[in-house]
Amino acid sequence: MLSTGLGRLCAGAGRAVLNAVLPPLCLGCGEIVETPGALCAACWPRFTFIAPPYCARCAYPFTQHAGEGAVCGACAARPPRYRRARAALAYDAHSRRLVLPFKHGDRTDIARACGGWMARAGAELLADADLIAPVPLHWRRLVSRRYNQAQLLARVVAGASSSSSQLVPDLLRRRRWTGSQAGLAAKQRHDNVRQAFDLHPRWASAVSGKTVLLVDDVLTTGATVEACTRVLQRGGARHVDVLTLARVIRPAV
Ligand SMILES: [Zn+2]
Ligand SMILES: [Zn+2]
Repeated sequence: MLSTGLGRLCAGAGRAVLNAVLPPLCLGCGEIVETPGALCAACWPRFTFIAPPYCARCAYPFTQHAGEGAVCGACAARPPRYRRARAALAYDAHSRRLVLPFKHGDRTDIARACGGWMARAGAELLADADLIAPVPLHWRRLVSRRYNQAQLLARVVAGASSSSSQLVPDLLRRRRWTGSQAGLAAKQRHDNVRQAFDLHPRWASAVSGKTVLLVDDVLTTGATVEACTRVLQRGGARHVDVLTLARVIRPAV
């Protein structure tokens, strides 16, 4: 109880000051841990970190090795526009408790730990990337949320990369208000975001021939990153890869 109270207290103003005097708290449950940005021993095994073997395109986990370059049924049936997508965590009841406060509750501190996990999960993609760009929020949402969680993650990921990739926070713009994607079926999500993005004119000529790494918090149906990928490809991008903190893993059909 005490630690949960502390967690709530920390979520308010003066966090930096409090962090200096209070013990670090588990990102999953708010229990006291030894190092900031860590999970406690109880939370750690509850999180499903995505690791090979998996689909060469979307990293859908395989139960056994399927050979170099093997793709999942979904990618075979309908190849994604992006080249490769990787995610640190499976999006489930446990990681949702980590992602939701981050998305809606001003827990910008979570980005530091999560960005590190993403950098490991996407090491191969980072090594190839010329440009790193977050999936943008519409300005209306940015006003209410005050920060773009994808941009925070992109910054940590770029910082953790030893390659010379350049972080371009405003490479893409979300020009159309699409409302929430929650509760929409895959087809509706694709329709909803189809025309939502464009390249920032400032970077219009910067994308040609480049490999772009798109960063977002959660990959659900892929509709959003597909729409962004299309814009980047129209701008002449050579490859587009996708790195997210978590991804929904539906049972294979
Ligand atoms: Zn915990
Ligand atoms: Zn796949």
